[in-house]
Amino acid sequence: MKQLNKRISLTLKQLRREKGWSLDMAAEKTGVSKAMLGQIEREESSPTIATLWKIASGFDTSFSSFIENIDISSHQMKHGGKTRQLHPADEKIRVKTLFPFDAQLNSEIFIIELLPLCEHLSPPHQNGVIEHVIVAEGKMEVLANGKWQSLNKGDGLRFNANQEHGYRNRTNKIAVIHDIIHY
Ligand code: MN
Repeated sequence: MKQLNKRISLTLKQLRREKGWSLDMAAEKTGVSKAMLGQIEREESSPTIATLWKIASGFDTSFSSFIENIDISSHQMKHGGKTRQLHPADEKIRVKTLFPFDAQLNSEIFIIELLPLCEHLSPPHQNGVIEHVIVAEGKMEVLANGKWQSLNKGDGLRFNANQEHGYRNRTNKIAVIHDIIHY
């Protein structure tokens, strides 16, 4: 968790430097409070997945750039195969970057585990962002275009992610999805 906070802090500071944005400007662009952004930069606080998405969208950058070293040129990601909890408040959702953001493909791929009774809502991403959710294990539901849609193992759904959307697992077994984000 400490290492993750450090990576998020460094990425945020670097982005702010590149854009020449004050904390006030960054707060305005991301919709995340100035106090929270300051805490994240000082590594005093870690953002939830939803907050991190607001920051990524506000800076018009990818989600994975905050949690992975994007300079890795390897096309094979392993991390010992482990998904991880990014924030204590995100109790029932585990994330692993399978492929970090690729500037040529304009995409990144995550493996997401939804624990039983997980319901995770996401703020809208940038305009033009498209998500593909493919169920690798179990059953789950995706909120897109205002309605929850059930997906079984092997099913997929593609939707515009510039709207509130969500993922939930109403079963008592873990559900695993692949989430392909296209920017
Ligand atoms: Mn999303």
